[in-house]
Amino acid sequence: MAVRAELLKNIWSVEPYVPGEQPQEKVVKLNTNENPYPPAPGVQEALASLDPADFRLYPDPASGVLVKALAENYKVSEDQIFVGVGSDDVLALCFLTFFNSGKPILFPDITYSFYKVWADLYRIPYECPELDKDFRIVKEDYYRQNGGIIFPNPNAPTAIYEELDFIEDVLEHNRDSIVIVDEAYVDFAGRSAMELVGKYDNLIVTQTFSKARSMAGMRIGYAVSDPDLIRCLNDVKYSFNSYTMSRAALVCGAAAVKDRDYLEETVRKIKETRERTKKELAELGFEFTDSKANFLFARHPEHDAGQLFEELKKANIYVRHWKDEKISQYLRITIGTDEEMDELFDFLRKRLS
Ligand code: PMP
Repeated sequence: MAVRAELLKNIWSVEPYVPGEQPQEKVVKLNTNENPYPPAPGVQEALASLDPADFRLYPDPASGVLVKALAENYKVSEDQIFVGVGSDDVLALCFLTFFNSGKPILFPDITYSFYKVWADLYRIPYECPELDKDFRIVKEDYYRQNGGIIFPNPNAPTAIYEELDFIEDVLEHNRDSIVIVDEAYVDFAGRSAMELVGKYDNLIVTQTFSKARSMAGMRIGYAVSDPDLIRCLNDVKYSFNSYTMSRAALVCGAAAVKDRDYLEETVRKIKETRERTKKELAELGFEFTDSKANFLFARHPEHDAGQLFEELKKANIYVRHWKDEKISQYLRITIGTDEEMDELFDFLRKRLS
């Protein structure tokens, strides 16, 4: 039965974000930029320390243990940290909290596709400056009146990282706007803009446990910023859902933050495999951007990306492909283990020869 037009007119209909597939059978999964290695060993212990009897109690709404661990790790004060259910939750709340001027917010035309969805959901006007021909963000495009700015660094799905002087230029030209730098992939890249938080009260840096910390399934993200902005974020959070972080996420997250050596070691391995993947794919005739993330954004001048995507999927190798015209000839390939990448290379070698 179809819903009557009378009802429909009061229903908010949006075009939703399309998450990458999560096949339930075993595949070579290079499609959602997860980490192929397990989380830090301390996470296992933290999980074992949980007593299900405590699950009858709500978790700490202030997420104290996790906020404390993050504050110690980044040497900032606890009131500079906000945590949420993945950085998607943190970013969605940032849109709701900070982008209310009525002026268009700015984000690149090719970027994390969730930004457009949140802007539509919250009825925030937006403009999307084009990347240049090499898929770089043109910082001068952000030197104009706006209701806020957001971009990932490294950008997604282009994987290109901009140095901190680039970020500072954007901040200097936007002292009266909130600038959000989404650093989901920064651990694989270079310096974090977090070191600029003390200098710019309009900067918000978000990060996630889903990539370098191997905990996509736990759903933990965070923002670091000026205490006044963090207070505003918390006010909105408490007006929406006060108990966002489960008991398991809080203790496992805190344990993961404490093991910096493990993080560094995992990131080192992934970067090594990334560089090997670049070499192998170049030999097969692929072209790609200078990735500083845990994925490559690659095209083959002689083979249709959509076709390759489908064939790879049939062979149980999942990568990501978008039909959007500007990037329809590209595949986004997550860096897995060396063995997983070998399966990809073997398939491509046979297919392209
Ligand atoms: N930002 C970017 C650029 C991403 O690619 C992702 C992962 N899809 C996220 C944020 C959100 O990650 P999570 O919610 O898992 O922290």
